[in-house]
Amino acid sequence: MNTTPNTTPSTFPPPEAVAKSAWVDAEGYTRMYEQSVKDPEAFWGEQGKRLDWIRPYTKVKDVSFTGDVHIRWFYDGTLNVSANCIDRHLADKADQTAIIWEGDNPAESKHITYRELHEQVCRLANVLKAKGVKKGDRVTIYLPMIPEAAYAMLACARIGAMHSIVFGGFSPDSLRDRLVDCDSHLLITADEGLRGGRKVPLKKNADVALAASPNVRTQLVVRRTGGAVDWTEGRDFWYDEEIAKVSADCPPEEMSAEDPLFILYTSGSTGKPKGVLHTTGGYLVYASMTHQYVFDYKPGEVYWCTADVGWVTGHSYIVYGPLANGATTLMFEGIPNYPSVSRFWEVVDKHNVAIFYTAPTAIRALMREGEAPVKKTSRKSLRILGSVGEPINPEAWLWYNRVVGDERCPIVDTFWQTETGGILISPLPGATTAKPGSATLPFFGVQPVVVDNDGKLLEGETEGNLCIADSWPGQMRTVFGDHVRFVQTYFSTFEGKYFTGDGCRRDADGYYWITGRVDDVINVSGHRMGTAEIESALVAHPKVAEAAVVGYPHDLKGQGIYAYVTLNAGEHPSDELRKELVTWVRKEIGPIATPDLIQWAPGLPKTRSGKIMRRILRKIAANEHEALGDTSTLADPGVVHDLVDSRMNRG
Ligand code: ATP
Ligand code: MG
Repeated sequence: MNTTPNTTPSTFPPPEAVAKSAWVDAEGYTRMYEQSVKDPEAFWGEQGKRLDWIRPYTKVKDVSFTGDVHIRWFYDGTLNVSANCIDRHLADKADQTAIIWEGDNPAESKHITYRELHEQVCRLANVLKAKGVKKGDRVTIYLPMIPEAAYAMLACARIGAMHSIVFGGFSPDSLRDRLVDCDSHLLITADEGLRGGRKVPLKKNADVALAASPNVRTQLVVRRTGGAVDWTEGRDFWYDEEIAKVSADCPPEEMSAEDPLFILYTSGSTGKPKGVLHTTGGYLVYASMTHQYVFDYKPGEVYWCTADVGWVTGHSYIVYGPLANGATTLMFEGIPNYPSVSRFWEVVDKHNVAIFYTAPTAIRALMREGEAPVKKTSRKSLRILGSVGEPINPEAWLWYNRVVGDERCPIVDTFWQTETGGILISPLPGATTAKPGSATLPFFGVQPVVVDNDGKLLEGETEGNLCIADSWPGQMRTVFGDHVRFVQTYFSTFEGKYFTGDGCRRDADGYYWITGRVDDVINVSGHRMGTAEIESALVAHPKVAEAAVVGYPHDLKGQGIYAYVTLNAGEHPSDELRKELVTWVRKEIGPIATPDLIQWAPGLPKTRSGKIMRRILRKIAANEHEALGDTSTLADPGVVHDLVDSRMNRG
């Protein structure tokens, strides 16, 4: 069955201007990709040289995806990540802006040069040492989107401590779980955060978490708002006072390529978060290389990724990838709709942003507000647009292309995961003809394979479980403290392969279309359907802003299709509209995809990173309101109560 919505226009070749000047063109992609999979040792052996090594590696790859699974890259080399992101740029870029910080309040912004970044990172590294942090220790970071978050990451890297960032929107309980899981002894937070004009009580939350985390002995507190906070003498220290006491010189620690760089807990869309562990050499080679090629980054350009540093996207594509490449990276404290829904585009104009990378959830939210708030801005500086986090519905893709990019900016729909460290499947702007809704083709060295539920390799045009056949340098190495869980989660479902947990379709051109998590696949009368495609069909309706589709127990079909639908601003629910949507989906996809139930949803439950939590929607649809599971990573628990209420009223 072909489940592609028939509204999808076919193809968007790279605009000529981009193709002409890009790092990689179509022919270059084919040639480099072939080299990368034919002889990975030679390919990565060459690519590893993009970093400065203290002791150059002679060994490139040592990987086994079977047995107890081990993954090592560049493993006899030594280096330091902070030296690669800062010190090596000082010779020619000391006065270039490394970080543009744009505050929540549009009147607040600042430029931090590589020289200033160096000083800030060295000072903080010395503070950490003075507080007893040693190589291999874990430091937890619970900060808003302020430059100190980047300083903290790089300071840890400088002295060889692992950082674990906990998103500033998480609750005290979530913070405590993560502090305890990795046994951190030091926490870096701020008095308060600022988002959309509202204060977030970070120190207050942290104090609650620390009361239940006895091993944390030190808390460094950045003064962000100056709001009143409680204070525990001997444990709490003001960040600004401490960095003033220490030297601005801190030699980088020599790290082995396979020494850990950071732990990051997954967003928890599917269950209890896992402490994903990334190491030093391979991770940085991969973050740097993907940042350069996927975004076609050119020296001097301003690059903006709107993610929070609390997510892996912020790690690899706000901090490590861009800074390793000597880029100017923009860090935004605020939200897309404050003070108005034009904010993103105003920031683009203010700072001359050339490359803009955001999530489908933000695009859909802005799309709801119409074109005017976008069109009143210039956006002339924009060259490349990116998307990450969920499948981007073709409708949203087309809007992003036409309204935001004025049909001049290629869109890179980048598929990857916390576990993968960097982008796995994505167009390259000057090389790949895009198809809206498809992440297109693998990055260099990445070998996607599609298997059926028995693990049998499926060839050609097909649909099934997305696995990766061999390692790439940015791959996670283990789950912190639980290697057995690592092997079980990623390598036991399909022997000898890394299983992404996502389903995908490969079309006749070899393009990959992520159809959503395999756990979310719906089986209607024996037909398997990805949620992404039904959702895209719904979103393609002019009155629909967002949709989430789940299966629920159905007497006749096994599973029925349950659709939660959020309407555009100004539209009203009605029974006619419900019927209209049902007819629409039948026309777009086919009768097999007919929604059995449509529930109007003023809001959808999302993770803090903006992903729809279908796991919870499944429970609501099945009337299992008592067993919603772990809801600690929900952005707005109120949404769930509203949905449960209207579900119960429906009977
Ligand atoms: P958890 O693993 O805890 O459930 P999570 O999977 O949401 O959380 P992330 O690692 O942030 O945590 O997200 C990776 C997932 O996001 C992918 O497995 C995929 O489902 C989805 N995803 C990311 N980018 C894309 C994309 N461009 N197209 C389709 N899906 C995407
Ligand atoms: Mg995941």
